[in-house]
Amino acid sequence: MNRPHPSRLRLRSLRDWPLGSRIVVVFLSLLLVTQAAVFVAIQASLSDNARRSIAAELEVGERALRRLLSQSANRLVEATSVLSADYGFREAVASGDLPTIRSALENHSARIGAPVAALLDTRFALRVSSGAADAGLQRAVLHLTAAAQRGLSGEALWVVEPVGGEPMQLVLVPLRAPLLTGWVLMGFSLDPWLARDLRSVSTLELAVLVRPHAGAAWSAPISTVADDVGADLLRRDADAAPREPTTTLGGAEYGWRVLRLTDRGAAGEGEVRAVLLRSVDEAVRAYERLRWVFAAITVLGMLAFAVGGTVTARLITLPVRRLVEATRRIGAGDYQTPLIGVRAGDEIGQLTQAFEGMRGNVAQQQIDLRRQAFEDALTGLPNRLNFGQALRQAIDARQPAGTAAGLAVVVLNLDRFKQVNDVLGYAFGDRVLQAVAGRLRERLASGDVLARLGADEFALLLAHSDPARALRTAHEIAASFDHTLSIDEQTIDLGAGIGIACWPEHAGTAEALLSRAEVAMRNAKRKASGPQLYDSAADSTSAQTLSLLSELRRAVEHGELRLFLQPKVAFDDGRLLGAEALLRWQHPQRGMVPPLDFIPFAEQTGFVRRLTLWVFEEAARTWRTLPVLGGAALRLSVNLSTHDLLDTELPERLVALLQRHGVPARAFCLEITESAIMDDPQRAHATLERLRTAGFKLSIDDFGTGYSSLAYLKRLPLDELKIDKSFVIGMERDADDAKIVRSTIDLAHNLGLTVVAEGVENAAIWNLLHRLNCNEGQGYHMSRPLPVPQFVDWALRWNDRTATGWGGLELLTSDGTASVEL
Ligand code: C2E
Ligand code: CA
Ligand code: CA
Repeated sequence: MNRPHPSRLRLRSLRDWPLGSRIVVVFLSLLLVTQAAVFVAIQASLSDNARRSIAAELEVGERALRRLLSQSANRLVEATSVLSADYGFREAVASGDLPTIRSALENHSARIGAPVAALLDTRFALRVSSGAADAGLQRAVLHLTAAAQRGLSGEALWVVEPVGGEPMQLVLVPLRAPLLTGWVLMGFSLDPWLARDLRSVSTLELAVLVRPHAGAAWSAPISTVADDVGADLLRRDADAAPREPTTTLGGAEYGWRVLRLTDRGAAGEGEVRAVLLRSVDEAVRAYERLRWVFAAITVLGMLAFAVGGTVTARLITLPVRRLVEATRRIGAGDYQTPLIGVRAGDEIGQLTQAFEGMRGNVAQQQIDLRRQAFEDALTGLPNRLNFGQALRQAIDARQPAGTAAGLAVVVLNLDRFKQVNDVLGYAFGDRVLQAVAGRLRERLASGDVLARLGADEFALLLAHSDPARALRTAHEIAASFDHTLSIDEQTIDLGAGIGIACWPEHAGTAEALLSRAEVAMRNAKRKASGPQLYDSAADSTSAQTLSLLSELRRAVEHGELRLFLQPKVAFDDGRLLGAEALLRWQHPQRGMVPPLDFIPFAEQTGFVRRLTLWVFEEAARTWRTLPVLGGAALRLSVNLSTHDLLDTELPERLVALLQRHGVPARAFCLEITESAIMDDPQRAHATLERLRTAGFKLSIDDFGTGYSSLAYLKRLPLDELKIDKSFVIGMERDADDAKIVRSTIDLAHNLGLTVVAEGVENAAIWNLLHRLNCNEGQGYHMSRPLPVPQFVDWALRWNDRTATGWGGLELLTSDGTASVEL
């Protein structure tokens, strides 16, 4: 097993520590190292200082010792002078009375505590001495007399010598009466006053070492040092002058100074030395308090650093941690929660501020993106995506179905919007859309949603609605389009196809609901008869439609289709001119199905082309069987759908069909709606040209419901214009409709077109149209569409009537309903 190295393990774990702890640890370590360095330096300078002060102390001690010696010499000289001034003693010396001299010397020396006393003659020869008289004394006498001969006197005249193995201070005092008669010599032990006196003026220790003669062992008769130190000192070769300022004695270090007290000792002579000692440890110990203070400062410093470091680290790490949390939040997609505690000032503050700024920007961008994704930029309305979501939510909130109020989706597609764009420009078109959005917005109740689904398509989600209410709302919207829109001093008339699908009646899901509302809207556009509720029969995508399609196919194959004819009559003489071929479906179960129930659907699926061919073929076959009245053959009008018109092979197909039946093209009029042309004007135009060339008459159907102007139609190869029945039926009551019909007739005539009015429902309409010079009429007033045999019957009877005397107006006004009964 590979175990990591322990130190590396520790290092890694330190790296894994939180930043704050690491900062504190690093700072504390640095402080500790610094303090340790300072401590070492202080320690070194302290001991240096101690040593220097020891040297100074020793220096002072030496001077003090020497002064003490000279002071004691003074005292000794004074004490000795008492004897030398004694009259009896001088008498005894003058008389040479040796016993008296000896006793006086002994008495006096005993009184002043001098173990050695002697009398020397004027030539420094020893006459009398008391106490020990050894080599030491001899040497002292020698040194003193030599000094006296050099002219020294009084207190200066003293020496230290080992006498009798003891360190002694010896003085020489002259004896005058008044002339010099001799010298008195006195010797005093150095002990114990010297050590005591020295101790009183300094902290030094003193050891006086004595050697009676060269080669003899040293002894320390006077010593204030501990025994082991003293022993070490004696063992040391005291001859060697101390070069080192310190020495080790008894295991401790001492500063030391060695003084030779004997005067210029010659080789072999005895010697006295004073050793001054100062314990280094003791000197340094004086600084112990300082060390403690230092240690206390260090501890306090560490505490302060720990606290300060923690606070500082917290100041750094807290915002950093918040930043980390904020970054995580942003990573998780939450851009909205702001950073708390954003402060200005330092770098961390600037970082947090910069970060907060960035978050704000990103959040704003998110909002913008969302808006772009869910909102239509032009109108500010929700877009299709957004609408789908709202719809889904609304449906989900109503689950299970039936527990809450229903929903309705109203889809609205503007009529003629393409033309608005083409003619007035896209910028204007945009304004129109905005205005429409504004109008629709006014209808919103709470919970409703208005969206722009696409170019000119809007959708309205009615939150609390059912089919009846939705239809009412849709009619209100349709009515609002009756008011013209004014934009930039232009007024335009806008219409719209409006389709409605309701939940849960028409679809269960948002997608299906919206698409069914769109199906209804297309249906409404086709019918041009106002808002439409979704009808599955007219929906090419519904299951019902699919089965309808196969049913329709079967209808063609099984001969369930029927051709009905509706007469077209001339206004001036009532002559029957022709008939419009209209399709019916004889359904085995449903009975006679009107064309509006299956043709819009057939148009959606394209199946209508199949139907057109069937009608055309049936019409061609029928034409041959129709009676020729008044010498003119009847002309049959056949309706073409958009799909037919976009089929480039249509002209050839029709021509071939006519040839097969041996029918001339001029026997047919082809009715085309404006919207069929407008789906693809260029292609439609080309097809129309070819149909015209082939000999067909061409008629524009349902005129007035579309958007094409006569000016545009002028360019097309047309022969006839059929005014839509909605205007015709309305002209009786509505002055506007009458005006439209009148101007349409006039304009069409100016363009050389024949004008046909469909929807002639009564005599009043007939009369109006007749007065307006309309050319032909078609309507229930003359006849409803009839099966071919009935039509033939009708035609013959009609012909009889007109032949026996077409009274024109009179005929029809006198008995307006008569013709309808035919
Ligand atoms: P359309 O081409 O405008 O046909 C005229 C419609 O007006 C016919 O309805 C006719 O019955 C009706 N009509 C005639 N006079 C009057 C009147 O005085 N009052 C009223 N209220 N209506 C009158 P129909 O036959 O139900 O046809 C409806 C539509 O179905 C037609 O409108 C046409 O667009 C379409 N259609 C019918 N047959 C065919 C066909 O064979 N091919 C194509 N492509 N479409 C057809
Ligand atoms: Ca027609
Ligand atoms: Ca028509």
